[in-house]
Amino acid sequence: MSPAPDFVGLCAGCMHARVVESRRGSRFWLCELSRIDPSFPRYPPLPVLACRGFQPAPARAAPDTPERSSQ
Ligand code: SF4
Repeated sequence: MSPAPDFVGLCAGCMHARVVESRRGSRFWLCELSRIDPSFPRYPPLPVLACRGFQPAPARAAPDTPERSSQ
């Protein structure tokens, strides 16, 4: 189960964030900026409330939104 966006903070809406799932089903928020800038933690402590690297992610469909059936 993924943490609610309020708990994650800025990473939940950042284009540099990627959710990584462990074999045991735990989910972690990975900061892709850490690959090119070591001043960013690979797994930032949550919630991230302020971040100089934050860039809004493109809009995407909510994962829990049920698909509409054509009737
Ligand atoms: S740049 Fe900041 S807000 Fe974006 S994923 Fe990394 S830590 Fe999170």
